[in-house]
Amino acid sequence: MALLRQTFKSCNLTTRFIHGNRSRGYVTSSDRPRMPECEFEFEGYDGKHYDQTRTLHEEKLSPSLSPYYSRPLLATQGRMQWIWDQNGKRYLDLFAGIVTVSVGHCHPKVNEAAQKQMGKLWHTTAIYMTPPIYEFTEKLVATMPGDLKVCILANSGSEANDMALMLARIHTGAFDAISLRNAYHGAGPYTIGLTAHGTWKHSYANGFGIHHAMNPDPYRGVWGGSHCRDSPVQVDRTCSCAEGHCMAEDEYIGQLEEVLNYSVPPKIAAFFAESIQGVGGSVQFPKGYLKRAFELVRSRGGLCISDEVQTGFGRMGSHMWGFQTHDVIPDIVTMAKGIGNGFPMAALVTTPAIAQALKGVLHFNTFSGNPVACAVGSSVLDVMEEEKTQQRCADIGTYFLEELGKVRDQYDVVGDVRGKGLMMGIELVANKATRDPLLGPDFVKIFDEIKDLGVLVGRGGYYGNVLRIKPPMCITVDDVNFAVSVFRRAFQSYQDRQA
Ligand code: PMP
Repeated sequence: MALLRQTFKSCNLTTRFIHGNRSRGYVTSSDRPRMPECEFEFEGYDGKHYDQTRTLHEEKLSPSLSPYYSRPLLATQGRMQWIWDQNGKRYLDLFAGIVTVSVGHCHPKVNEAAQKQMGKLWHTTAIYMTPPIYEFTEKLVATMPGDLKVCILANSGSEANDMALMLARIHTGAFDAISLRNAYHGAGPYTIGLTAHGTWKHSYANGFGIHHAMNPDPYRGVWGGSHCRDSPVQVDRTCSCAEGHCMAEDEYIGQLEEVLNYSVPPKIAAFFAESIQGVGGSVQFPKGYLKRAFELVRSRGGLCISDEVQTGFGRMGSHMWGFQTHDVIPDIVTMAKGIGNGFPMAALVTTPAIAQALKGVLHFNTFSGNPVACAVGSSVLDVMEEEKTQQRCADIGTYFLEELGKVRDQYDVVGDVRGKGLMMGIELVANKATRDPLLGPDFVKIFDEIKDLGVLVGRGGYYGNVLRIKPPMCITVDDVNFAVSVFRRAFQSYQDRQA
């Protein structure tokens, strides 16, 4: 209970400047940005030695798993927005286990809900009815607009997208689907086809019947300018639009029309899009693009599928769901990651009419609707409501973006700052005028220094040159000020190295 009270203190907007003084482990010196104090204590670590762990990682895990950083982080404890390593050094986690820890590491209320359900019933499989599944799905669909009222549970974002494509194909009787270049929709047998990053594709068959339209990226794309984005920070690029009319939007919609005309049959099954591209480096589309894309796709018989795996659950601040920021209502919404605050679970939500297509279709997965997962999901939704996390994303995210916008204007290495709410990206460039990406050791040195100064961020974009900031939704203004000082310091060091 004491822990719960402390958490509320650190997560309450009105008391966000109040901190305890019990932090330990992070040593600051006068010329290093000062990390905010923290109310939680490092509980110590008596596991395997760091070097032994690295050897085990290299020898016993898939070689495809290469951890971040020149000296990878051994994370041994997490509380809310904080992570501790084996020595008790504390880090501000601005990546949330890849946009997954939505309400905070080991949130006490979510922990309590999981433990309570674990003591009652772990698992039965959906062959029996269990109470948590109904409690959770009722709460989840209540957050959805329109007729999005039927929920299908899954275990990962890839699986939810696989099922969405399956459902769209069964419902429409059509086969072809379209996604956007630079999208990430998963790495399952279907979804790796929807994912449109060459870096994630390998020498096995994928993507039969899936086509990729030009990415409507106002920063790196062919068209874009200084009014395109729904963000406090606009692209630093001249805009050739007429007042109230986005030329970039027209051009990118024209590209989608080309795919519809030349690459697919008259009727298609589905169009997939993220509301802000996550793995692709927090890329935002021109404001009206998705609305017009949905209209076009529907005119060709396709279902519109919003992948809310990263953008959902209030992260964008102004709305609970990212698609609402584009003024659209999809036919299917897929979600994962933040849904369980780190517990492996996922879902798709659709309309009763579309769900009907599954009547008589035998489809089953062992773990979907697991009672512990559902109890966790239910409690995550409660916490979001109680702690007003969406409002927090709007307030803190806007402030964070405005501060980062100033950093972009100050440092040549920062080509672009973008995002909405607590879904942000900083794109690093070797040349601000040509937008050449910052690659290799130059990027890695900045990335390492940010971590050494105590802040964890992600990495993304096709070139891997975008710093991804998508923290647990409980960060404070003090945390933002600290992180911005750390970024400034790392960008300054880079510029000093270039001088
Ligand atoms: N969609 C999006 C937008 C994602 O970011 C991801 C994961 N990065 C997925 C789908 C796939 O989710 P998972 O890793 O849980 O399969």
